[in-house]
Amino acid sequence: MEIILAKPRGFCAGVTRAIETVEKAIQKFGTPVYVRHEIVHNKFVVESLRKKGAIFVNEVEQIPVGAITIFSAHGVSDKVEEDALNRGLDVIDATCPLVSKVHREAKKYEEEDYEIILIGHRGHPEVEGTRGRVKKPVILVTNEEDARNIEIQNPEKIAYVSQTTLSVDDTKKIVEILENRFPTLQKGLATKDICYATQNRQDAVRDLCKIVDILLVIGAQNSSNSNRLRDLGEESGLNSYLINGAQDIEEKWFENVEKIGLTAGASAPEILVQEVILKIKEISQKEVGVFDMNGIEENTFFILPKKVRK
Ligand code: SF4
Repeated sequence: MEIILAKPRGFCAGVTRAIETVEKAIQKFGTPVYVRHEIVHNKFVVESLRKKGAIFVNEVEQIPVGAITIFSAHGVSDKVEEDALNRGLDVIDATCPLVSKVHREAKKYEEEDYEIILIGHRGHPEVEGTRGRVKKPVILVTNEEDARNIEIQNPEKIAYVSQTTLSVDDTKKIVEILENRFPTLQKGLATKDICYATQNRQDAVRDLCKIVDILLVIGAQNSSNSNRLRDLGEESGLNSYLINGAQDIEEKWFENVEKIGLTAGASAPEILVQEVILKIKEISQKEVGVFDMNGIEENTFFILPKKVRK
């Protein structure tokens, strides 16, 4: 049996920066530090940081006045930022720079008086953050059906932004529908806001699915980019499983399977990949070879927020 590892997989630059931000804040300011929302969507990461002294909360109202407060990689709305300021919190913003870029883009469209469409998943923290960066209502498009049915007040002046972790293929289809309905829609690459890490991991999995019999994706159930990787496996006709880690593996998945494709979402650490490999070796009756797929080498790096730089 063979395990083929997708390349690239796992942590992206935004996740690495967010985790390091919490770790450096603990080193510099001592415990506890408060983090609004899961810093990234991964229980293993959240638990490790909790053990080091981070306290995770859903709202800034739960944070003691003046405390060190970190915003997660998903970004926050203007209101959350204002509430934190009014509460006197000492904020360190770990929003991924690629999410901040979408915030700026949305604000620019608002200033230029465009009606704004936001393509993304309802309720996802990134979508809530981006939506809350503009004052006027934003029209949320979650799928092709929405794209066919939304009503626009001024079809002469509309623009769109998207969540950074969407399916590249689905987003292209949604934008195509919007472009057909609204010929004046701002032009540009449909996937302009989908980040490099999401694109690269999807490209790698698309290639991986051509040569394996089953796909395992390590990632949290609420991780958007991990879910999209699992979707790609299913679209390729493979049995595809989104797992938190080795504990979720079921032996019956591997009956009549020779090649297992393994990848990890952008918020899943490599240690979980290695644990999954060990578990498969443990339960397999056969020799298991582990191979890396050819793939691109990522070298994107984001500097830490000023307050936690040395
Ligand atoms: S998945 Fe993309 S947008 Fe999200 S944190 Fe990583 S690099 Fe940033």
